[in-house]
Amino acid sequence: MNHIIENRFFSIKKMIPKNVKILAVSKNQEISSIEKLYRIGHRDFGENYIQEIVKKYKKLPKDIRWHMIGRIQSNKLKYIIPFIHLIHSVQNIKQINIINKIAFKHKKIINCLLQIKICNEKNKSGITSKEASKILEDKTFKDMKNIKIIGIMGMASFQELKKVHNEFSYLRKLYHEYQNQYGHNILSMGMSRDYNIAIKYGSTIVRIGTLIFGNRKKII
Ligand SMILES: *Cc1c(COP(=O)(O)O)cnc(C)c1O
Repeated sequence: MNHIIENRFFSIKKMIPKNVKILAVSKNQEISSIEKLYRIGHRDFGENYIQEIVKKYKKLPKDIRWHMIGRIQSNKLKYIIPFIHLIHSVQNIKQINIINKIAFKHKKIINCLLQIKICNEKNKSGITSKEASKILEDKTFKDMKNIKIIGIMGMASFQELKKVHNEFSYLRKLYHEYQNQYGHNILSMGMSRDYNIAIKYGSTIVRIGTLIFGNRKKII
């Protein structure tokens, strides 16, 4: 038996500080690959598609902490609220309202991050720091009991690696501001190609997919 996935995971884990969490991004990866990391004790997995999270949740052990990191389809949120651990990709007050409402029905408090746009590439989503601050100061949001915003998330440039430093530095600054003002404690930044840089800029959770699991397969 080979242990390629486990070995890749261990070598990344060995290289990063203990206070940085690894989120294993398992979107478009087989259930059996997730099970391999589960068996060696890993519990945090990230997915982009609600349908895929639900399918995997049903088949896998219930102590896995599932993270939603992809674009949110509001009409499907109800399927993950009963079990989701953290939503990294919240972008507006409408989504916040829906999450709060569904969470109330399930007697849950859902932890979320605001996704901030830190690079100019067209396909990257996220909101500006101004929009984020507006949400955090929103009175209806402040009164909500079943959703908590505990940090921010961002994706850096793909095309130009030299821009990544500025982008992560910007996000760190915003994070520190929110940490002081609102007690945020999660800064989700860094992926396979740039997680080392993200850690230098104070990331508290890196989202790593292909570097652990290899290329993504189309499975849903
Ligand atoms: C897919 C994805 C990742 C993981 O990307 P890799 O390059 O495979 O590490 C991280 N974050 C988000 C938001 C993603 O969509």
